[in-house]
Amino acid sequence: MTHAAPTDEAAAPRFLVDGMLGNVARDLRLLGYDAIFGEQLPDPELLHLAQNQGRVLLTRDRALARRARDLPCVLLTENAPRRQVLEVLSSLGLGPSPAGPFSRCLACNGRLVELPAEDAASAVPDHVTVTAHNFLGCRDCGRVYWPGTHRTRLQERVREVLGALLPPRGPV
Ligand SMILES: [Zn+2]
Repeated sequence: MTHAAPTDEAAAPRFLVDGMLGNVARDLRLLGYDAIFGEQLPDPELLHLAQNQGRVLLTRDRALARRARDLPCVLLTENAPRRQVLEVLSSLGLGPSPAGPFSRCLACNGRLVELPAEDAASAVPDHVTVTAHNFLGCRDCGRVYWPGTHRTRLQERVREVLGALLPPRGPV
């Protein structure tokens, strides 16, 4: 039974995002990529972390990119925060992540797992349990996600990013 093979999450690149690019870390997590945020880490520690964990370093800092030498690194040049994740994906030739959207916690990068409504009840406002039935919970920080306004906006963002990755359609 090997036919399910390489949709392989294990083969997907993992990222280390430098402190200036929090929005990129969040967008990557939203798409389902493993992205840790090196907030306030000095350059040598960022480089060690990228190397030790086999992560692609994402930065806008030319000096840091130079110091990365043969470590995998993307030097971003895009200024618009909403387009930066596209620059990352296109420069690495990546599409949607194998794990899929809503598989990572936006706050901490932990894995999201389905959460029975009774387990979610203590973590969400009362009115939510009346209307929402499928909950996702972060295994690491305990944050709970449910279908609603917030998640609808996030789904729109996923569509926006993935839509922008597709080649433009020819005339019909
Ligand atoms: Zn979390």
